Amino acid sequence: MRYAIDPPAIPSLPILGREERFPIRRVFCIGRNYAEHAREMGATVDASAPMFFCKPADAVLADGTDVPYPTATSELHHEVEMVVALKAGGSNLDAGQAAQAVFGYGVGLDLTRRDLQAIAKAKGHPWDVAKAFDHSAPVSALRPAGETTLHAGTRISLAVNGQVRQQGRLGEMVHGVADIIAALSTLFELKPGDLIFTGTPAGVAALQRGDRFRAEVEGVAVLESRIV
Ligand code: MN
Repeated sequence: MRYAIDPPAIPSLPILGREERFPIRRVFCIGRNYAEHAREMGATVDASAPMFFCKPADAVLADGTDVPYPTATSELHHEVEMVVALKAGGSNLDAGQAAQAVFGYGVGLDLTRRDLQAIAKAKGHPWDVAKAFDHSAPVSALRPAGETTLHAGTRISLAVNGQVRQQGRLGEMVHGVADIIAALSTLFELKPGDLIFTGTPAGVAALQRGDRFRAEVEGVAVLESRIV
């Protein structure tokens, strides 16, 4: 195959304890998956109808990479989220098949231009400029699924400049990991390499240039970087 221009690089993430990297195909995100966060946004959770949006694969930034403050916003918000990486895909997966499709887990930030999202919501416009901008998805190295066990009590947290901003437990998710994968697979044919952001607990707030952040899913992964 010869291309008319150089083909784009394949975005990827490191894997804890391995030399190989995880190639990223697509990035899916679920909205309003923790009731407390939905409340702080003035929304309610419709448990029967999970809400999804996407980011481009090349919006992902690896752990330790400086995050540039985006253009066109004065309200860049953090949303700490567990990230699920898929090694298998398919359509209309049941919960068992969904669980088997998981390669591993990480922690990421669903960075959001909150001011542009508010305008989009008010006008009924798509969320892309609020959610899918360049560098909007910093993600940790991935922990293979067989090397960790997630519990309802597993903590997810974000500290900014040493101060805890967001804290929750995975058991607070309205839709668990297998349910999210199964629901997504009714809308998209999932593929190996897909990443899924699983929603944020309460406490979202603004980041400024110079802020240092540390995101963690306990026993799974840590993501540390700064806004520049
Ligand atoms: Mn989010």
